[in-house]
Amino acid sequence: MSTIPIEKFEGLEEELSEYPLFLYAILEGSDVTFEEHVRYVCRTECPCYNTTWSCPPAVGTVEECCERCRRFDHVFLFTTIAEVEDIANMEQTLATREGHEQITREIDTLFRRRFGETLTLSTESCAICEHCAYPDAPCRHPDRMFPCVESYGILVTDLAEKAGISFLNGQNVVTWFSLVWF
Ligand code: SF4
Repeated sequence: MSTIPIEKFEGLEEELSEYPLFLYAILEGSDVTFEEHVRYVCRTECPCYNTTWSCPPAVGTVEECCERCRRFDHVFLFTTIAEVEDIANMEQTLATREGHEQITREIDTLFRRRFGETLTLSTESCAICEHCAYPDAPCRHPDRMFPCVESYGILVTDLAEKAGISFLNGQNVVTWFSLVWF
């Protein structure tokens, strides 16, 4: 059950309409499941594994990630989209990511202002620094770094389906996801 007074949500939609979000939903934190098999995919298939503070194993075990999230009652799931000439071209696709990250920072700020502490997860591994400080030194920007959604064991496609948020939005349309726990 929510511990957030309903007044805190007043005017939220109007404020959100100022951002180029494609779709969004507010879910109960309990709607989100944390799966060990997602972590298995990180470990066995993702080139980012063990290369950055925003990915496993640096983010902790799935159980620890789950505990961190469970301190919050709600999660705001949102997408942005970007059209590219050829979605199979990774360079083109990844070039659209920074715009989404910037919007994620702004949405995170908006939610902090309204609701207090947040925990925000975003797309892929953090790319703020050209070379991540991991593992030799602490993260240089812990206040701006968003761990990858999947690194927490969350299968974002399942969550999106639960929320009625489309994952495929056109042949050459990139869909980026973020989650703000609040
Ligand atoms: S902010 Fe820099 S040091 Fe921290 S996770 Fe991102 S790339 Fe690595």
